Amino acid sequence: MSENLLMRCDQCSMSLTGGCTVRGVCGKDPDLNSLQEALIYGLKGTAAYYYHALEHGYKDPEIDEFMAKALYMTLTNVNFNKEHFINAILENGRIHLKAMELLDKAYVETYGKPQPVEVSTGTEEGHGILVTGHSYKALYELLKQIREMGLEDQIKVYTHSEMLPAHSYPKFKEFSNLCCNWGGSWVYQRKEFSQFPGPILGTSNCVQEPLPSYEDRMYTVSVAGLEKGKHIEGWNYKELIEHALKTPKLEKKEGPKIVTGFHHTNVLPLMDKIIDLIHEGKIRHVFVIGGCDVPNPKMSYYDKLTEIVPKDSIILSAACAKFRYNMRDYGDIEGIPRFLDFGQCNNVYSIIVLAAELAKRLNKDLNELPVSIVLSWMEQKAVGILYTLLYLGIRGIYIGPVAPQFFTPNVLNQLVKRFDLRLIGDPEEDLKHMLKNGSRVEEGTPLSN
Ligand code: SF4
Ligand code: SF4
Repeated sequence: MSENLLMRCDQCSMSLTGGCTVRGVCGKDPDLNSLQEALIYGLKGTAAYYYHALEHGYKDPEIDEFMAKALYMTLTNVNFNKEHFINAILENGRIHLKAMELLDKAYVETYGKPQPVEVSTGTEEGHGILVTGHSYKALYELLKQIREMGLEDQIKVYTHSEMLPAHSYPKFKEFSNLCCNWGGSWVYQRKEFSQFPGPILGTSNCVQEPLPSYEDRMYTVSVAGLEKGKHIEGWNYKELIEHALKTPKLEKKEGPKIVTGFHHTNVLPLMDKIIDLIHEGKIRHVFVIGGCDVPNPKMSYYDKLTEIVPKDSIILSAACAKFRYNMRDYGDIEGIPRFLDFGQCNNVYSIIVLAAELAKRLNKDLNELPVSIVLSWMEQKAVGILYTLLYLGIRGIYIGPVAPQFFTPNVLNQLVKRFDLRLIGDPEEDLKHMLKNGSRVEEGTPLSN
C-alpha cells in the first residue's frame, strides 16, 4: 500500500464515493484494513491448494470451517481487534499447512510417491500439446484421453513451468508420451507459447492472455479462463486432442536435462547420511531458496545467491523461480545432490517435514541447525506459505523481491519486529549474515516443541 493511499474499502453501503480511503465510516482504520486484506490474501492461497485437493476427492472440514470463519471476520462491523487478525493470520498458516499436507496426500495416493527424475528439455518427433499451470488432475485426464483415443504414439505431451514435477510420479511415468519440459517459469510464457507449434492448455493460475500468434491454440480448463482461447468443460479434451493432430509436428531434438522429483519420502532415507555429513562438517549450511518467479529485475538476487552459496552447503528449492537457477551444475557432497528440486510451490510441505525431522534426529531445535530460508513471492499461494512458516515459529525469513503492498507501513514494521522478517538486499551482504545467523525458531511455537 503506498504512503498516499493507506486503505481502500468499498465493501458496504456506508462507503464514501470511490471507497473509504483514509478511515472507514464504520471506524475501520488503515492498519485494520491491511490486516483484513492480508488474511483474505492468505485464504486465497489456501483455497488454491485446497481446490486441487478437492479435484482429487480429498476434503477436510476443519479447512472449510476456518475459511468460512476467517471470511466472516472481515465482514463489516464484525471485528475491529487487530490482535485477533494477527492470530487469524497465524491460524491461516496452520490451516495452509493442513491444505498442503492434504494435497500432498492426494498426489501421493493418486499418482504414487515421486522419485527424482531427469527430464529432457528437448523435443520428440510428433504432434505436441503443452500443459501449464499446477493441476495434475488436468494433465492426467488429458493423457488418459489421448490413450483412450489410441493416439499415444502420435501426440507427445510437454510440461511447462509448475507442471514439470509431474514427470516424477509413477502414474505419470506410465504414459510414454509425457516426454519433455518446454520453457521456464510463467513469466516467459508468451514467448515460449508462441514458439510451440501445438495447442497449449492452461490449468490454473499463472496463465496470461495469449498473443495473437497462439490465441487460436490456447485452451483453459478447471478454474483457469481467458478472454481469448477456448474453455474446456467437464474434462472433455476431444476438441483439443483433434486440434493437436492438425498442427505441425515437432522434430526430435536433444536438450539439457533438468532433475526434479525430490520429496520427503525419498529424502528421508538419506537422512542418516546427511546427519553424518553435518557432524563431519562436510555440510555446513542448508539453504531453502524458492518461491515464485516475478518479472522484476530484483529477481536476479536469487540467481546470484544460489551461485555464491558456499560449496559445502545444499539448496532445497521449490516453485517456479528455480527456472532462473536450476540448470547450473551444483554437483554433490558425497553423493547428496547440492541442489534438490522438490517441485511445485505446495511441495514446500516436503521441505517442512524434512526440516522438522532433521531437528528431531539431531536432537536439537532448528536454531542450532545451519538453515536459512529465502523466499520469493508473486501471488497469494506464497503468502499462505509465508504464514505457515510464521505459524510454525520460523523467524529471520528473507522475502522478496519486494515487500507486500497490502501491508501498511505500520503493519509491515510490526511484522518485521515481531517475526524478524527480512527484506532481501544485496546477495553478498545477506549471505554473510545468513551464514552467521540463519533462520531460527521462536520458543513455544510448533516447531520448537
Ligand atoms: S466496511 Fe467500513 S471502511 Fe469498508 S466501505 Fe464500509 S464503512 Fe467504509
Ligand atoms: S510458483 Fe507462484 S508464480 Fe510460479 S507458477 Fe506457481 S503460483 Fe505462479
